[in-house]
Amino acid sequence: MPGVGPKRAELLRKELNVRTALDLLYIFPYKYIDRSKFYKIRDICDADTYVQIVGEILDWNTIGIGKSERLSARFFDGDDEIELVWFKGTKYLKLERGVKYLLFGKPSVFNHRWNFAHPELEPFDRVNPQLLRGLEPYYNTSEKMKSSWLNSKTMMKIISHLMPSLSQGLPETLSREVLDRYNLMNLTESLKNIHFPSDLAHMQKARERLKFEELFYIQLQLLQQMKSRERDTVGLKMPFVGRSFNDFYFNHLPFELTDAQKRVVREIQADLKSGKQMNRLLQGDVGSGKTLVALLCCLLAKDNGYQACLMAPTEILANQHYETVCHMLKGTEVRVELLTGSTTKKRREQIHPLLMGGEIDILIGTHALIEDTVQFLNLGLVVIDEQHRFGVAQRAKLWTKNINPPHVLVMTATPIPRTLAMTVYGDLNVSVIDELPPGRKPIQTYHYTNTRRDAINNFIRGQIQQGRQVYVVYPLIEENKKMDLIDLENGYRYMVEQFPEFKVSMVHGKMRARDKDAQMQRFASGETQILVATTVIEVGVNVPNASVMIVENAERFGLSQLHQLRGRVGRGADQSYCILLTKVELSKDTRRRMDIMVATNDGFRIAEADLQLRGPGDLEGTQQSGLPFELHIASLSTDGQLLEVARNAARDILDDDPLLEQDKNDIFRRQLQKLKQRAVDWSAIS
Ligand code: ADP
Ligand code: MG
Repeated sequence: MPGVGPKRAELLRKELNVRTALDLLYIFPYKYIDRSKFYKIRDICDADTYVQIVGEILDWNTIGIGKSERLSARFFDGDDEIELVWFKGTKYLKLERGVKYLLFGKPSVFNHRWNFAHPELEPFDRVNPQLLRGLEPYYNTSEKMKSSWLNSKTMMKIISHLMPSLSQGLPETLSREVLDRYNLMNLTESLKNIHFPSDLAHMQKARERLKFEELFYIQLQLLQQMKSRERDTVGLKMPFVGRSFNDFYFNHLPFELTDAQKRVVREIQADLKSGKQMNRLLQGDVGSGKTLVALLCCLLAKDNGYQACLMAPTEILANQHYETVCHMLKGTEVRVELLTGSTTKKRREQIHPLLMGGEIDILIGTHALIEDTVQFLNLGLVVIDEQHRFGVAQRAKLWTKNINPPHVLVMTATPIPRTLAMTVYGDLNVSVIDELPPGRKPIQTYHYTNTRRDAINNFIRGQIQQGRQVYVVYPLIEENKKMDLIDLENGYRYMVEQFPEFKVSMVHGKMRARDKDAQMQRFASGETQILVATTVIEVGVNVPNASVMIVENAERFGLSQLHQLRGRVGRGADQSYCILLTKVELSKDTRRRMDIMVATNDGFRIAEADLQLRGPGDLEGTQQSGLPFELHIASLSTDGQLLEVARNAARDILDDDPLLEQDKNDIFRRQLQKLKQRAVDWSAIS
């Protein structure tokens, strides 16, 4: 290709994964600037948009000395003048009087006046007239590329060389039917217009088509996977509602189920009856009562002669589930056991035969459940709590614990925006508990800077004197583990000093499981009033009497984590509080995170905000599951509507032709094949 020698080819491959001309066509501009419009100086009003102005240079001077030395020129458009400044690279600048220039740049304000810093300046008669006809594409380039002169402008030039060859047309990747039905631009036109749109409308049509295609193939892949799994696996049949369920429901249930809980139990029940293997995601905000739903489902499994297991991501949580479940099932005939990493060898040896003999109905535990030595007589239901903490592989392992795979219910406490649920978890059915148990008082959240410790300590004291308990949480991340542990221990000592009249306990992930458990117990039983902890208590922990959550260094937590932590309080009848402590100087994003936390308790709103702020790649839990294919142009945070259209389109096709065997669907089958091939190739490289 013109403009691409071996060095550039290598750079393109390394930096953008571009190997062929076709790959290059799929490097899309991230923005466009309208070069058909000319401005006058007096119309400048916005510092954030590029403008171009025709005019001449009146004169120029070097002003300032040393670091602040700069070149200043007066630019005149026939009516008004404006200052242009250059701080560096002035050697290369050849300014001339009496020449008509095209100026292009972003205006800025300096000393209350508009100016241009480092504008592009080109003699007007040397400007390519082609450029001035429409929208100029801008491409992302890496530092490495820029330093080899492979900047956006060069990219544009290289890609423009490909345009003539497009006139022969590229093989279409969507069927005529789909193009017509959804009113989409064809592939060739789209690729032309994504790079060099003739106008705004064409650019938008091109973008829409290319986004649609990406989302469509992801959905086609996910839905096909789901369908083939439904077809190929025999679902364990659980048609009965029997004694265990009814006895518990009518005689032991400590409270009335919320309507949402009832609805979700019915949805799950329908799956269990259906004869198809269930793969369901149960979403519900923190405190919405997912554990109880899980327990009811386990009882349904028992009533049909099957065992169930419940897997939690931490020992603390597994222990707590075990205690809750035992407590609730007291007086029933259901047999429950606990298996975690710290279960003794002796105890394990007792549990294994009981499990094989079918004498345990519900096994609760951690990753320890996955081990090969753990064998069930007849495992029928697997519940995975806080599923974002587990990888896909770990989930899959539980499938193999029965000849026919058990039903799977995964629960997540961090609500997931709809768009993510439809993609990252697109092959699961989704149930939502969208209602909290009655009588909860909304948690009050405050953001303070850590200069306000005295006031906060007084507040803590007042709360404890009223009989409440308090969490104090510190961040702990792997990369900074040593410092973080020191912070935590200092924090612990500080609390002990500040509150000599109260008892303080401490837990962190590096403690022995036994000690951790003992400390948790002391807090849960009310023996200690303050618990200083790392995020080991982030998920699931339930101590209803604790009503204050203090988050130290809150700026270091993401939104979903903050929401999780806050969910540890507000579980009893008392008014609860969450106090986010940060340093004084905050970035814009951090400030926004704090504002959102203060503004809302709604996990779904927070999840949406998180998606907007961070983008889907960073969302907790999405890294492991991932998308079947990469997105280059569509965005899960902003293209929700199009995603839904694409999902419906894919579903319609598969409903009619699940294996894509019909001739008219050949195009989809081949394109899917190609995409899968590519996904594998690339993952092998990176
Ligand atoms: P999560 O959905 O965050 O896992 P949990 O299952 O831990 O929530 O439930 C939170 C608290 O709400 C627990 O103390 C539980 O006993 C209580 N709870 C659950 N369902 C109801 C209900 N229908 N009415 C009243 N309290 C409930
Ligand atoms: Mg929970």
